[in-house]
Amino acid sequence: MNAAPADQIRLLDLQAIDSKLDQLAHRRRSLPEHAEIDKVTADHTALKDLVIAAQAQHGDTTRELTKAEQDVEQVRARAARNQQRLDSGAVSSPKDLENLQHEIGSLAKRQGDLEEVVLEVMERLESAETRVSELTARLEHSTVVLTEAEGRRDAAFAEIDAEVEKVGREREAVAAVVPADLMKVYTKLRETQGGVGAARLYQRRCEGCRTEFSITELNSIKAEPADKVVRCENCSRILVRTADSGV
Ligand SMILES: [Zn+2]
Repeated sequence: MNAAPADQIRLLDLQAIDSKLDQLAHRRRSLPEHAEIDKVTADHTALKDLVIAAQAQHGDTTRELTKAEQDVEQVRARAARNQQRLDSGAVSSPKDLENLQHEIGSLAKRQGDLEEVVLEVMERLESAETRVSELTARLEHSTVVLTEAEGRRDAAFAEIDAEVEKVGREREAVAAVVPADLMKVYTKLRETQGGVGAARLYQRRCEGCRTEFSITELNSIKAEPADKVVRCENCSRILVRTADSGV
């Protein structure tokens, strides 16, 4: 294949631009914020689950307290009724009186036990409340951390994207003047050769693969017409001869 030496040199400009674009894409992909956001998101999701579980626990304990308080109230009401009957003098049989007094005594004991239960549930409810508020605070904090990391990532994206747009415009201008057949080979090579399709011949080396040519090889490259598109024997990249190539 043939191409004017100036077009071959433009290919080096294009290569420099494409490498820059590749670097920008790599930077965009490997921002430290990505890993940070992944981690914070995982923490955030786990915290959300914990808050939901703690709220459910709180709900259950609240219902348990209501039930325990109702139990106390029931026993208390029954004891009050019995006390009323006793005070009214309606019960006269000594046997019935004894039974009634006995029951009032049992109910007092029962009420005391149930009040213990109420206290115990109240303590658990307090712990559940504390847990909900602690977890909620941690969730809020993690939301702030997440938002902040996303903000930094988006700012980095905006900066990189602006640079990509600017370099992309430079690329358009350079690509427009590279002959189509040369561009085709270059593009294909870029795909197969790690993003580098054209390399300068400099100080006896291919700058694509760093292979140093022998004098014989250099002489045969030198013998090629200037408009001949030379390929590196080692990496097959387009080898561009420039004024400082030393050939
Ligand atoms: Zn090479």
